[in-house]
Amino acid sequence: MGIDLAQVYRDAGALLEGHFLLSSGNHSQYYLQSAKVLEDPARAQLLTDALAQMISESGIEIDTICSPALGGILAGYELARSLKKRFIFTERVKGEMTLRRGFSVDKGERVLICEDIITTGGSALEAGKALERDGAKIVGFAALANRGFCQRVGSEKEIKPECKLPHELPFFALDDFEFEIYEPQACPLCKDGSQAYKPGSRGN
Ligand code: ZN
Repeated sequence: MGIDLAQVYRDAGALLEGHFLLSSGNHSQYYLQSAKVLEDPARAQLLTDALAQMISESGIEIDTICSPALGGILAGYELARSLKKRFIFTERVKGEMTLRRGFSVDKGERVLICEDIITTGGSALEAGKALERDGAKIVGFAALANRGFCQRVGSEKEIKPECKLPHELPFFALDDFEFEIYEPQACPLCKDGSQAYKPGSRGN
């Protein structure tokens, strides 16, 4: 494959180091800002071409790529370009993932769900379920990076109980990014006296 994903993220200033308050309420020393990696279309294409190659080599047949808005859209669109497939996205309406904007799927249409990063895969799974309700067939999942809860194709690392992706479907990612996540009361960074902040709130 030949791509050092951590280096690509570092070069793009997308692997942030600090003391972050995650949307889950937990704290982490690192944060991935995938939009920064994808702000350069040439770099995005480099990554999705590599991902597309893995997917093609697996032999699975795909008609369409779908991403959950907002984070997955850039990665999914570029992957669709690399694979020469149609691209659609789902978005939340009153909390429920749904297809809008005139997008639809045919009965039996084979769809791969693409995210920028898969943590537990919750949003990807919801997008898949929304399309299944409309008759599509979900054939797999993909992301630039795997946070280490789910098992990507080609890795022997075990699946953690937090992974929500269906274990029988393939999940393609370029690499694993495994960071320690701390509950606030057990966070060593807090113990050292610094305060967690939300990524994006200090110009990142
Ligand atoms: Zn902390």
